[in-house]
Amino acid sequence: MKVGFIGLGIMGRPMAKNVIKAGYDLTIYARNPKTVEEFRNLGADIAQSGKEVAETSEVIILMLPNSPNVSNALFDENGIIEGLSEGKTIIDMSSINPVESQRFAEAVAIKGAKWLDAPVSGGEPKAIDGTISVMVGGDEEAYNKYYELIMSMSGNAVRVGDVGAGNTTKLANQIVVALNIAAVSEAFILAKKAGVDPELVYQAIRGGLAGSTVMDAKGPMMLNRNFEPGFRIELHIKDLQNALDTSHSVQAALPLTASVMEILQALRIDGDDVYDHSAIVKYYEKINNIEVGK
Ligand code: NAD
Repeated sequence: MKVGFIGLGIMGRPMAKNVIKAGYDLTIYARNPKTVEEFRNLGADIAQSGKEVAETSEVIILMLPNSPNVSNALFDENGIIEGLSEGKTIIDMSSINPVESQRFAEAVAIKGAKWLDAPVSGGEPKAIDGTISVMVGGDEEAYNKYYELIMSMSGNAVRVGDVGAGNTTKLANQIVVALNIAAVSEAFILAKKAGVDPELVYQAIRGGLAGSTVMDAKGPMMLNRNFEPGFRIELHIKDLQNALDTSHSVQAALPLTASVMEILQALRIDGDDVYDHSAIVKYYEKINNIEVGK
């Protein structure tokens, strides 16, 4: 099966490598010459444009930062839409606004092509291991047809509804993650101010009801003051913006998401948005004039 791939960054590179490992015939389009060389050496075909990827591939995978990047990849000169034809499918694994996913699906349907929105959860290590989770929205037949391809990059895939449902699910995921990191930060600050070692607090509570995957992944990063991304605050701002935009368009109120969004804005003002989202603790450290680290 001929598979195209566009968006070969932190996540896309290891995901595309897993597609090659699984034996698919991969064509990529990338702007970075180092990425082009790396994939040429792995046996991938190199296209000069999104249009060429779409012409030569039955299914095209996208792993781009946000909705405007997906829009550019589709609609710019020599973009994907120009090479698209009847029977092709785009699997957009970027985390974007679900309303935009629906708009893109309508645009490709005019060419007789299908759209699956299939954002992922789990960071770079899981992308390398091929154990990310995928939440898919879109046509069931297309989902079944490309299930094996999706599973070549992931450990778990669930179809959650029609186009847009995948990204709505991803936004729900990002709300839980952001609020959980903020809660762990507040807990560590309280402990430190009260004279109790946050490391011991973490060890004491991680096995109980307060424990979580987020606490286990991000708590040690806060305690070790290791804010290397991982998942950049800048990307989490994008996700919470999409969550708030979507919530307003469906008339849902998300007060805690709005609060954490303001914390992320404050971190951006300090230039901290390049760090991992565990650096949410830096906001709390600043307003409390204390560091939680060891
Ligand atoms: P990234 O910035 O590392 O990679 C994006 C890539 O897309 C870059 O290589 C960039 O050059 C390329 N690109 C952008 N516009 C392009 C265009 N028009 N044509 C061709 N290439 C283009 O981002 P990432 O961390 O890999 O994240 C990708 C998506 O996955 C985001 O939506 C993010 O929210 C989501 N995500 C990331 C993580 C993570 O831990 N990094 C985890 C889960 C989901």
